[in-house]
Amino acid sequence: MASAASPETQNPLLADWTGRFGLPPFAALKPEQFRPAIDAALAAHRGEIDAIAANEAAPSFDNTIAALERSGRALDRVTNVFFVLAGVDTSDAIEAIEREVSPLLARHSNALHLNRPLYARIAGLHARRDSLGLSAEQARVLDRYHTRFVRAGAALDKPAQDRLAAINERLASLGTQFSQNVLADEKAYALILEDADLAGLPDFARAAARAAAEERGQEGKYAVTLARSSCETFLQFSARRDLREKVFQAWIKRGENGGATDNRALIAEMVALRGERAKLLGFATFADYRLDDQMAKTPAAARKLLDEVWSRARAKAAAERDALQAMIAEEGGNFALAPHDWRYYADKRRKAEFDLDEAEIKPYFQLDRMIEAAFETARRLFGLTFTPADVPLYHPDARAYEVKDASGRPVGLFIGDYFARPSKHSGAWMTSLRDQEKLQGEVTPVILNICNFSKPAAGEPALLSFDDARTLFHEFGHALHGLLSNVTYPLLAGTAVASDFVELPSQLYEHWLEVPEILQKYARHAKTGAPMPKALLDRLLATRTYGQGFATVEYTACALVDLDLHGFKDASALDVADFERRDLARIAMPAEIVMRHRLPHFQHLFSGGGYAAGYYSYMWSEVLDADAFEAFAETGNVFDPATAKRLRDYIYGAGNLRDPVEAYTAFRGRLPTVDALLKKRGLVDETV
Ligand SMILES: [Zn+2]
Repeated sequence: MASAASPETQNPLLADWTGRFGLPPFAALKPEQFRPAIDAALAAHRGEIDAIAANEAAPSFDNTIAALERSGRALDRVTNVFFVLAGVDTSDAIEAIEREVSPLLARHSNALHLNRPLYARIAGLHARRDSLGLSAEQARVLDRYHTRFVRAGAALDKPAQDRLAAINERLASLGTQFSQNVLADEKAYALILEDADLAGLPDFARAAARAAAEERGQEGKYAVTLARSSCETFLQFSARRDLREKVFQAWIKRGENGGATDNRALIAEMVALRGERAKLLGFATFADYRLDDQMAKTPAAARKLLDEVWSRARAKAAAERDALQAMIAEEGGNFALAPHDWRYYADKRRKAEFDLDEAEIKPYFQLDRMIEAAFETARRLFGLTFTPADVPLYHPDARAYEVKDASGRPVGLFIGDYFARPSKHSGAWMTSLRDQEKLQGEVTPVILNICNFSKPAAGEPALLSFDDARTLFHEFGHALHGLLSNVTYPLLAGTAVASDFVELPSQLYEHWLEVPEILQKYARHAKTGAPMPKALLDRLLATRTYGQGFATVEYTACALVDLDLHGFKDASALDVADFERRDLARIAMPAEIVMRHRLPHFQHLFSGGGYAAGYYSYMWSEVLDADAFEAFAETGNVFDPATAKRLRDYIYGAGNLRDPVEAYTAFRGRLPTVDALLKKRGLVDETV
């Protein structure tokens, strides 16, 4: 296929990428090249899988497991580029391709995991795994393949597999419908305001509301929308109680407004289908199925943690409520604190108690300095250096750094893409163009951090809020998990770990932002270059546990309701609204606080289902990160080299080489207790 007219030479996605770090020729890529490239890559992978399954030679680790690990490379390469671009620089054309290829990829994955001859080879190898002479890593890879296939239904009979495939396809389209409904309800709502309605709103909130109104053709007016940043800002600052109530009601009713976008029936169907899938696979409930392959292992273990936190969080939230109610009384207000009042009075109280104003902090958090701070932390912990790399990228705002270790050995490429733009999805995440492995020669990873910080006017420094800086450190922790990966087999690389373990490297890294010596060095005033005054630094760090009663209740209620919802043995007659009401009554949810995500718009659970029966994961990881940072604190040196080495060997560098319980125990010498988390959130008794 070497003629000039062959698709390989016309379509750069199918050519060899010979540039540095194996980057694709971004400038030459066009949306219309993706569909044919993905089709070709899918066909190539199907061919490889068929050849492995039909191999006449007796199954061996190399001709089955390692062969699977070597397969699908073209597909990985093309889909990595596609999904990176779909997230950071999308367009109508890319979105249309995304809708087309997502079900194709799901079907491809089903066909792989329900391939009976292939599974027979894997199961045979797994049954005699102890006599195959495998290394520890090879044994882990084989075990992960076996688990993955079994959990996907590979061991079931044909009728059960057919039913499973049908359930998976139905769940996929219900998930898409669910998120489109939420998006439709969000788009449909805007509260249009006049100048006279803006009492309490700071300048930046007014400017954003004005821009939102303009976007809706309401020049000269102001709009509050249901984007989290818009409505939460309004709830925090607006002095108009009547308007706060309107916005809050619209916010918590997303997906529950009747008509075509109402999600309640979809949820009932999804929960029932998930329950049926779990039963086909031999589990009593979906929660049992889901947690069986997580660090927590059982719903009871996850619930035990949540229960331990819940009563303390409720007590702290009650104390917070009393303080806010007292504030209302002092102002002469004659009403009981309602959910739409909480953020407004909590912000007032923070200003009054800590004398801390966002405007005073912001000039000290420059983006470029905070990137340096994250790099410096990685140098002191792991000996890494970051040097700007001149490589062609997909957008002028993205920046690349070559990463090396203390001995000068190449570690990988880090790409930071920090500013919001219309073609980028909201939120912050880590992703990769290439993952680390050593199976076919040494491959170094290409890791990206995507954020949505406000882009400054030309010539001005980019300034972050303290929360933004925390997000930068969080995502950089994920990036290090990808960069430091030191495994042979791609299946185990980097962040490919249990979802209640994957937030450990990211949440742990946030702790170093709050280390005074890092802040003193890198939090410098954008105009004067002066370090942050000690008094301001102290006030900033003193607010760390402020409002944690509210935040913990808002989060933990969601995690408890999620476990209960997915813990039904028979969910065939589920009334979603009634269930939510009764379950919140059961856990004694405070009347002044609403779940952070009510079920009709709980996208973590129902848009794809990545966190279904898994919303507890954030807190599970937080137990680990709080305890892991204590390991450094206990040595008296937050950069203690011996502790950092264990952290690299067993966590950041270890991918999925070990079961998470084993990995954490190897790092810490024991499993964590909940104490450090309670302290971090200010939930120990004396501070309630
Ligand atoms: Zn994260």
